[in-house]
Amino acid sequence: MSEFSITNWVEVAPATYLAVAEPEGVNIGLVLGAKHALLVDTGSSPAQGATIAESVRNQFHRVIDRVVVTHAHYDHWFGLGAFNNVKTYGQAGLLDEMSVGVDTTLVAQLGFTPDLIAPPQNLILDWGSFSLGGEHVQLKYFGPAHSNSDLVVYVPGRRLAFVGDLLEEPGPPHFGPDTTVSTWPNVIDQVIALVGLDTLLVPGHGKPVDTAFALRQRNDIERCYRQIREWHTRGYGLQDALARIEMGCSLDWPFSVAAMREAAICIYAELAGSQPPTRPA
Ligand SMILES: [Zn+2]
Repeated sequence: MSEFSITNWVEVAPATYLAVAEPEGVNIGLVLGAKHALLVDTGSSPAQGATIAESVRNQFHRVIDRVVVTHAHYDHWFGLGAFNNVKTYGQAGLLDEMSVGVDTTLVAQLGFTPDLIAPPQNLILDWGSFSLGGEHVQLKYFGPAHSNSDLVVYVPGRRLAFVGDLLEEPGPPHFGPDTTVSTWPNVIDQVIALVGLDTLLVPGHGKPVDTAFALRQRNDIERCYRQIREWHTRGYGLQDALARIEMGCSLDWPFSVAAMREAAICIYAELAGSQPPTRPA
């Protein structure tokens, strides 16, 4: 696995910063309040989480004492192990992910042992909130979409929300074994309804986006779902659908062949009422 690194922090709203953790290109958020400093997502391992905490100490002379993880994918939350004595938050679906069992090969590649992976102290079902001292933070879960634990971190006073991998800016969103494509567009609708039209949205990967971008990606996900569901309705099996995708891109398809393949596997599993056999990478 490639070496971990983190970029410098860049201000994206007042006293609100973004850094990118490599090699996964994950956005790490930092919201500084009068009393507390909030980190959003933690990198891929406890060592990486510790590096992030150190960079905040060095650049801002602040100690992170609130941490939210946006969902149960390793590049966003395995760094949580570095934050033992602070208030940590995540969506309750993280526990389901843990109950499946940790990918020990991956953890070994990342350079630590599975016992360092622990759930957040505060598990959010639908809604949560806390204050950073004069700055209110809302946590919202709208149901299954990119994963089973996508938690939105909304900071109304900064006109900004961290949306994890509900949106991805550099390319198509990621469809994995724990994705529920049918409900994803509606989840994005609810995010926009919560934050309004003039809030900056920080995706899990890539540059911050506006709600117009979010609506375009939402519509692309819906078009993708409708196309593949139509093949399923016509009686095509998954292999037929994949063969159609391999034959080449149609103008009707919103995503690349690779992303359409991933989506088709998810959607067929969803329509069959089961999950595909593999775990998320
Ligand atoms: Zn993800």
